[in-house]
Amino acid sequence: MIANTTEARAEYRNVWVVAEVLAGEVQQVTYELLGSARDLADARGSEVWCVVLGSGVSSQAEALFHRGADVALVVDDPGFVSFVDEDQAAVLERLVRCHKPEIVLCGATTRGRALIPRVAVAANCGLTADCTGLSIDPENGDLLQTRPAFGGNILATIRCSDHRPQMATVRPRVMNELEADTARSGRVISETLQPAERNGHKQILKVFRDSDNSVNLADARFIIAGGRGLKGPDGFKMLKDLAEQVHGAVGASRAAVDSGWVPYYHQVGQTGQTVQSTVYVACGISGQIQHLVGMQSCDFVIAIDKNPDTPMMQLADVAVVGDLFEIIPALIKEISAT
Ligand SMILES: Cc1cc2nc3c(=O)[nH]c(=O)nc-3n(C[C@H](O)[C@H](O)[C@H](O)COP(=O)(O)OP(=O)(O)OC[C@H]3O[C@@H](n4cnc5c(N)ncnc54)[C@H](O)[C@@H]3O)c2cc1C
Repeated sequence: MIANTTEARAEYRNVWVVAEVLAGEVQQVTYELLGSARDLADARGSEVWCVVLGSGVSSQAEALFHRGADVALVVDDPGFVSFVDEDQAAVLERLVRCHKPEIVLCGATTRGRALIPRVAVAANCGLTADCTGLSIDPENGDLLQTRPAFGGNILATIRCSDHRPQMATVRPRVMNELEADTARSGRVISETLQPAERNGHKQILKVFRDSDNSVNLADARFIIAGGRGLKGPDGFKMLKDLAEQVHGAVGASRAAVDSGWVPYYHQVGQTGQTVQSTVYVACGISGQIQHLVGMQSCDFVIAIDKNPDTPMMQLADVAVVGDLFEIIPALIKEISAT
């Protein structure tokens, strides 16, 4: 909504987090967003509201209060048992118009990316996607939304001065969640799904699970990632063997994904996932900036490449120069012998 005067902007208060709910469970990214929202709300002297749209979700409010929410705005409806972006966007737009939040944060997840742009368009406000930093301009309350721009080569800080609410998405594992404080509590506001908000254009008839989609890169503590240097899908079989030995997950560069060697859900980087593993082993990945932005927060990086001068080899804590087709089988042999 247009809010280009101080008086109009003053009508908008509080920082909202749109909870990511999967099978009735609030997901980790929600707690991370609450951590960031708490800082923003404290800077504005306002409250953190967590909007929970789902089926059987009312019981989750306590956990949200413990992680920084003051208010849980809950729409608990069996109609939300499956995620339909249009229906959820319709409810969220109504809630935004009714309660006038100053800031709305949402996870840059598959669901968040389907949902929040619809709300931003309907509410006639901007949206900054994939933010890596959020802060408040104390002069005017503008949300300073920092994100990589121009292929990740610069960081841009974006503000949306003339419209409210200010909306941003943040990827999982970028913000830090607060320590749970079980002494914290809050208020629950229950809303209902209106019949007109079920537009019926889409219906989930059946959910198919990808049998190979066992990768959980976001939570993995050990990631073995491969790039163009693996030369083909067989190289990734070798990588999978190594990952199994160390109970790790397999990551990939976009070059490997674009070549069709591994599915997209393995991709790490600007247009893939952001990961924060304890150990990240990059095999035949040169380390272009678009890859590095997705893994640079990993604690310990090991790079294997025949070229010692790549950005990944420079960034690595341990850089192993050599042919990965000799090094990886030797590693597998060594580990399996122990
Ligand atoms: C808008 C945009 C978004 C992008 N998003 C992403 C993203 O999310 N993730 C991503 O990864 N990329 C992304 N990219 C692509 C990125 O710019 C790079 O092209 C890509 O990361 C390169 O992948 P790579 O390192 O596997 O390949 P290369 O750069 O070709 O590197 C291959 C490496 O393998 C080494 N090598 C070859 N053979 C061997 C061997 N036998 N033994 C050891 N080493 C060997 C080579 O020395 C080289 O260092 C994006 C690009 C753009 C423009």
